Amino acid sequence: MAPKIVVVGSANADLVVAVQRRPGAGETVLGADTVVVPGGKGANTAVAAARLGAPVALLGALGDDQYGTLLRDSLAAAGVATELVRTSARPTGIAYITVTPDGENSIVVSPGANAEVSADDVVAAAGTLRAARVLACSLEVPVPAVEQAVAVAVSAGVRPVLNLSPVARLRQETLASLDPLVVNQHEAAWLLGTAEDAVPGVELASALLGLGPRSVVVTLGAAGAALAERGDVVEVPAPEVRAVDTTGAGDAFTGALAARLAGGEKLAAAVHFAVRVASLSVTRAGAQPSYPAAEDVLLA
Ligand code: ADP
Repeated sequence: MAPKIVVVGSANADLVVAVQRRPGAGETVLGADTVVVPGGKGANTAVAAARLGAPVALLGALGDDQYGTLLRDSLAAAGVATELVRTSARPTGIAYITVTPDGENSIVVSPGANAEVSADDVVAAAGTLRAARVLACSLEVPVPAVEQAVAVAVSAGVRPVLNLSPVARLRQETLASLDPLVVNQHEAAWLLGTAEDAVPGVELASALLGLGPRSVVVTLGAAGAALAERGDVVEVPAPEVRAVDTTGAGDAFTGALAARLAGGEKLAAAVHFAVRVASLSVTRAGAQPSYPAAEDVLLA
């Protein structure tokens, strides 16, 4: 099936180790066994959308190594098309993650092959992108590739969704075409130059709309999300859940949002659905393994 969603983004192996405390400079600590799981914002978003039944392709790059195979297998198992995932001479991206008993993560990402995703890759895939309904991007790949993808999408009437994470400055032309720009509270505060937590979610969303995008969604963790478009600002509360692991919650959100927008749903309804999907995902361990199928969301 031709993909209705093209995701442009990263694919990483997450190497996760639980530690009692983080080492200081020059120090060594012993941790638990390493757990290796498929991750990366792009791969996570693609898997989240595919689990919900949407035809999805990922555009990205992997190394010719064991982690590349791990990622290709996990994408294929979820039903994500991988024809646009290039094999690079550089190693597969790796996220080195330590988790302390309080649940806090610290992460070092080694981008590897992800750093090779280029505007030329996007141009080579333009036919597939133009035939899609939604483009979903995130920024663990170089900004020029993402800006090229947004430009191709806009020229073909494909809806550009961008999770601006990790946060970066974009050309105004790119920012102005996003529909929506998706950020968490931390990224929203960075873009607006305000202190985190100083401003309520709805105000963050409407202030970001003032920067030019066609619509804005600010995710608010346990509080859900706020949405702003054409003067309408809505807060969408999250269901109360027992959060076990919030890794990849934002990617689940973007994947679910893209899936519903690709199905022709209006933004407000798609945000309601994405909040439910992301909130379900935090009740289970891991990123990709925690993403629900459409039936799970109906039952919840
Ligand atoms: P990110 O993971 O990008 O930092 P957020 O923390 O804002 O993003 O979470 C994204 C979405 O995940 C939220 O909009 C919400 O639906 C869900 N979520 C995250 N944390 C919780 C939580 N503790 N309880 C319920 N839902 C949550």
